[in-house]
Amino acid sequence: RPGENPQIKPELTKQHLAATKGMVITRFPPEPNGFLHIGHAKAINVNFGYAKTHGGMCNLRYDDTNPEKEEQEYVDSILDTIRWLGFEPHQVLYSSDYFQRLYELAVKLTEKGLAYVCHCTGEEINAQRGGEERGPRFTCKHRERPVSESLAEFQKMKEGRYASGEAILRMKMDMESGNTTMWDLVAYRVLYASHHRTGTEWCIYPTYDFTHCLCDSFENITHSLCTREFVQCREPYYWLCDALEVYKPVQWEYSRLVVTGTVLSKRKVQELRAKGFISALDDPRLYTLPALRRRGVPPEAINAFARELGVTTADTVIDVVRLENHIRGCLGEIAPRIMAAIHPLRVVLENVPEDHFEEVEMPYKPNDDSFGVHKVPFTRVMYIDSSDFREVDSADYYRLAPNKSVGLQGLSRAIMCTDVRKNADGSIAELVCRYEAEGTHAKPKTFIQWIADCPKLGSPVRLDEVRLYNPLFNHDNPKDASNVPGGWLSDVNKDSLEVVKGAIAEVGLWDSIKRYAATAAGKKELSQHNVETVRFQFKRIGYFALDKDTAMTLGDIENDQLANVKLVMNRVVTLKEDPKK
Ligand code: ATP
Ligand code: MG
Ligand code: MG
Repeated sequence: RPGENPQIKPELTKQHLAATKGMVITRFPPEPNGFLHIGHAKAINVNFGYAKTHGGMCNLRYDDTNPEKEEQEYVDSILDTIRWLGFEPHQVLYSSDYFQRLYELAVKLTEKGLAYVCHCTGEEINAQRGGEERGPRFTCKHRERPVSESLAEFQKMKEGRYASGEAILRMKMDMESGNTTMWDLVAYRVLYASHHRTGTEWCIYPTYDFTHCLCDSFENITHSLCTREFVQCREPYYWLCDALEVYKPVQWEYSRLVVTGTVLSKRKVQELRAKGFISALDDPRLYTLPALRRRGVPPEAINAFARELGVTTADTVIDVVRLENHIRGCLGEIAPRIMAAIHPLRVVLENVPEDHFEEVEMPYKPNDDSFGVHKVPFTRVMYIDSSDFREVDSADYYRLAPNKSVGLQGLSRAIMCTDVRKNADGSIAELVCRYEAEGTHAKPKTFIQWIADCPKLGSPVRLDEVRLYNPLFNHDNPKDASNVPGGWLSDVNKDSLEVVKGAIAEVGLWDSIKRYAATAAGKKELSQHNVETVRFQFKRIGYFALDKDTAMTLGDIENDQLANVKLVMNRVVTLKEDPKK
């Protein structure tokens, strides 16, 4: 949209070009008051992507002007997350780097008669703006006080001679404007709070409105890209740069990402934690980026999703299924396939001798030799997943039932259920099956996964805990529930987490962890306990990744000490879209 950046003075343009050599410079400006979320992944892709497309660069700038809410933990997490997504900022900067320079410009603005110290209360300011009824607007008596008086008062603010709320510096903008963001915005306020970088050096802090555009200007940002709720703020952004006669970037807006079935706002996420609905800010049911990472979502899937959204200005709610499909696509490429049973059911093959032992070769990824193969034992006793057996058969059911056969993965032979042995309480103890000779039945319609009971070869591998996640909310738009008694929190899905203790997997699980640990990439990740990069496809079930609650060292793997290891796995995503949707 050329022509939207009102004239810049020629000498400012000259200075700007001397500094940038005409290069595109963008910035990603998060406030370090929480973890980044999936919406920020869009902002990161827009800012880094736009710069990259034009051969330019993108800075990370922490917008840290609210010391009460900001913490070093979030500062660290944000950079870590950006790097995890595969981006490297040209420079890492902080708004607080410019506190002195911003202060000097505030003095300059006051000297020019374009800012004044005001002692009105919040209520009074609201009334000046027409109040709730949006009635007539008027200016306060401080607006016309002499420049010298405002300068002296601003100095008193800085020296700590006012309590918080007793004095603010306001910009003398345009109370007549139809744009609410031009009604004499606050530039500085008194705040006795320790800042995570500047400590107690300052007791006045600049506002977002005063800081953001000036920091963009200092850094010679060419395109200040932001979300659409800032459209109105374009006017005060340009006003302040012009008032101070500094270089003025162009502000462009794109639509904010909203995905179905979740909440992203930091305040709401904190509330979910406070009420105990989630365990932490990286609880895998959330859509914060640390949560998605912990869950096992590959960063490539998030970037592909963000790229597919593109830079639009229409505010649409994006179905989270689109992200899930990118996750399936990525994991389908990289995850080894293994057999697992979430709820194991014991099967005895009555016609296989007790001492029978053979090994069956299985590819880690059918039709892709680069993944290699592994061997699984085959013995008289094995486990299948209980979901693959039904006592009451039906014509459209192609798995195991009494007197019905089903194929076994990796084998051309089928098993036929001949008996169901029950426990005293009526539950199923085990199935008795016959291992059928090849050609006994028509080719089975389904081949189920199976895991031999062969302790001497480490089979099965026991999964100490498997965590199955479902959407955290019952409705696509939890905010719709705000008129329900209990508010949006009443929409939380009580079954969003299912913890399974007795799941098992075949030996390929441990074998592929050992293979991964033998690669340079695997050694690096595992030595830092980035276990979420250990991902599998559990055949016919879904994609799973190790959770950080897993207890496992590189030494355990290298010395083959599976007994020392505690495996905790997250279901990243099911194999197919939920048919209910
Ligand atoms: P939240 O309301 O979740 O706290 P925020 O806008 O306050 O988000 P910031 O840390 O200020 O978060 O955001 C940094 C940058 O990321 C800003 O440029 C902001 O516009 C952008 N951003 C934040 N949320 C989204 C989103 N949902 N979609 C796209 N961009 C976003
Ligand atoms: Mg913000
Ligand atoms: Mg916010």
